[in-house]
Amino acid sequence: MTSNLVPTYAPPDVVFARGAGVYLYDADGKPWLDFIAGIAVNSLGHCHPVLVEALTAQANTLWHVSNMFEVPAREQLAQRYCEHTFAEQVFFTNSGTEAIEGLLKAARKYHAENGQPERIDILTFQGAFHGRSYGAINAGGNPAYLKGFGPAMAGFTQLPFADEQAFIDAISENTAAVLIEPVQGEGGLRAAPEEYLRTLRAKCDETGALLLYDEIQCGAGRTGKLFAHQWTDAEPDGMAVAKGVGGGFPLGAFLLSKKMGENMVVGTHGSTYGGNPLAMAVGIALWDEIAKPEMMEHVVDVGNFLKQQLAGLADEYDDIIIETRGKGLLVGLQLHDQFVAREVVGLARNEGLLIGAAGENVIRMAPPLIITKDHAREALTKLERALQTARSQQK
Ligand SMILES: *Cc1c(COP(=O)(O)O)cnc(C)c1O
Repeated sequence: MTSNLVPTYAPPDVVFARGAGVYLYDADGKPWLDFIAGIAVNSLGHCHPVLVEALTAQANTLWHVSNMFEVPAREQLAQRYCEHTFAEQVFFTNSGTEAIEGLLKAARKYHAENGQPERIDILTFQGAFHGRSYGAINAGGNPAYLKGFGPAMAGFTQLPFADEQAFIDAISENTAAVLIEPVQGEGGLRAAPEEYLRTLRAKCDETGALLLYDEIQCGAGRTGKLFAHQWTDAEPDGMAVAKGVGGGFPLGAFLLSKKMGENMVVGTHGSTYGGNPLAMAVGIALWDEIAKPEMMEHVVDVGNFLKQQLAGLADEYDDIIIETRGKGLLVGLQLHDQFVAREVVGLARNEGLLIGAAGENVIRMAPPLIITKDHAREALTKLERALQTARSQQK
């Protein structure tokens, strides 16, 4: 069948008709255990009653007025984010890439307003993923995402991830900002060591560079803290969030310290939809669920259990698996070269388990934060069957 869609994606041959909790169902009612959650988005699972209630109530009241007018719920959600983070100011977006774009603009603006308009250099890291806008692909630096889209933008350098010496050698008084995912998502679920983030913070303080975190995938409670960097005391000057903070409704934000935010005055940035009443209603309801202390305790507990189970699997299938990766409920398995993560993802799907692939030949799990240990056991049983098939196909 010919398609009228731009062919940027190649989805498998399955169509989901509805979702409930941790499961998706096709039109025949066949269930799939969803351990990828729309790429770390459906943090409360599918059709969580609290979110459905918030969205439908808002849909019956007011959808959109644009940023020409005040939306009180915007202030309420911004207040919640600031209460739980370093930030003092928030700008709402519709996606992750827009949050990154705004964050990078705010970083350069900060130096421009402080008498250094030429200070534009941004250090990022190999394996990073920051989105698909021009700014974001240049920040990420993945050659496959840049190819064919014109010359590279000035002012972006990628360093090896978590290599302390390379970073110390690269940062200088010309560096405008350092942008890093505390846990790399697409790049292969690599968690930056806590000590490394502290080094970034210290060197940024020394040189006057800004420290920026991309917590679009690893934030929103996914690692068992509301934001992944909160496992350390290395706070940033700015942070991008999206994915899990919207639970499936398009919502992102960039969060700024006062010194970064105060330069973004009237006219410097904008968005038609950003922070519209529908997104705010869902965002507030979602935040109030994940900000409950018992929710983060649950993520730590079930995350540890899942990682233990994966470690057991890694031992038993060491001909296939190199190591376990990730933190909390953003975890995966790196595979030996003769196995292809994407193919194992397909075999898992045949067993009724939805997972994803990431860089460095890693299979990725980012289930809803509400999974139980029973869901984790079910996922592991299905994954084990997929590994057995992979092994038998190899022989
Ligand atoms: C998904 C992602 C983005 C881009 O977000 P979009 O909503 O797809 O624009 C940026 N950074 C990270 C770490 C991501 O995982």
